[in-house]
Amino acid sequence: MSLMRKMLLAASTNAWLRDRATKTAFVRRSVSRFMPGEQVDDALRAAAELNLHGITTILTKLGENLMRVEEAEQVTLHYLDVLDRISATGVEAQISVKPTQLGLDLDRALCERNLDRLIARAEQRNNFVWIDMEASTYVDATLDLFRRSRAKTARIGIALQAYLYRTEKDVESLVPLGAAIRIVKGAYLEPPDVAFPKKSDVDANYYKLCTRLLAPDARKPGALLHIATHDIPLAGRLADYITQHKVPASAYEFAMLYGIQRNQQERLAREGKRLRVLISYGEYWFPWYMRRLAERPANVWFVVRTMFG
Ligand SMILES: Cc1cc2nc3c(=O)[nH]c(=O)nc-3n(C[C@H](O)[C@H](O)[C@H](O)COP(=O)(O)OP(=O)(O)OC[C@H]3O[C@@H](n4cnc5c(N)ncnc54)[C@H](O)[C@@H]3O)c2cc1C
Repeated sequence: MSLMRKMLLAASTNAWLRDRATKTAFVRRSVSRFMPGEQVDDALRAAAELNLHGITTILTKLGENLMRVEEAEQVTLHYLDVLDRISATGVEAQISVKPTQLGLDLDRALCERNLDRLIARAEQRNNFVWIDMEASTYVDATLDLFRRSRAKTARIGIALQAYLYRTEKDVESLVPLGAAIRIVKGAYLEPPDVAFPKKSDVDANYYKLCTRLLAPDARKPGALLHIATHDIPLAGRLADYITQHKVPASAYEFAMLYGIQRNQQERLAREGKRLRVLISYGEYWFPWYMRRLAERPANVWFVVRTMFG
């Protein structure tokens, strides 16, 4: 892992930096590249705009590791309202939540109850809830949450990270369920005893996990693979695999983040591929933004250029 990536990921959890950076005009300006705005209305507008180009979306409110039960309640009420508003406006959007936003650090039972409320509303509104994967210490609890919810509804999916050694086994354990799974490379700072330190190993594992989930025996009712990456050569190799193995279009979607590889997003849509763009919004953007910078050191130069006008 590069030194720059390590430094940015370490900075993502620094409260002193967060308090200063979020008040700095040039940082706020550079964040707007990855985020249409801080309010859900900004995200809904961006989603409607993408829908016009044949691109579907996922909305996620930024914020993690909440410290108070009332905050988890507010987040849950917020997402319930978002599900209602998506339904009322007819925008093609799902939602994605972090377990620690729903209170996982505070009380596991509370987090489960909050997630239950969201999946019940998603059932009513004909929608879908994704569970983000956070740092490796949360994987067991997040998988438990997912399995519990999947027993009640197929309107739920989970993100799994290709950089973790354990993910191959986790994928195998979820195949019999017919799970909707978003494969990502992984965005957190993890030690070498839990995650591949070399990018080439992460990329190789990513391909392996996706092809496993595209195999005929993994195609069960409710199963769906999200190929969530901006790595165009890797996505291209998976597209070749899909063509060669005649994988049905209903088995997978591509997924990318708002503002990243926009020209590639448009290309996929033009080619008639199913693409979902994850749109983040909210005031608590600092750790998330640091993770986006860490993914591509050139982004830091973009911030510096913004600073000088
Ligand atoms: C839909 C979606 C959901 C996600 N959910 C989660 C989650 O739940 N948990 C989690 O840990 N991670 C999540 N991630 C983030 C993911 O783990 C990676 O950190 C991120 O996607 C970068 O990896 P990559 O696959 O794009 O490949 P990389 O090899 O990192 O990047 C490939 C190329 O894409 C471009 N690129 C990548 N990132 C950026 C960027 N920030 N700015 C500009 N260009 C960039 C660059 O050209 C780069 O060379 C999600 C990503 C997506 C797309």
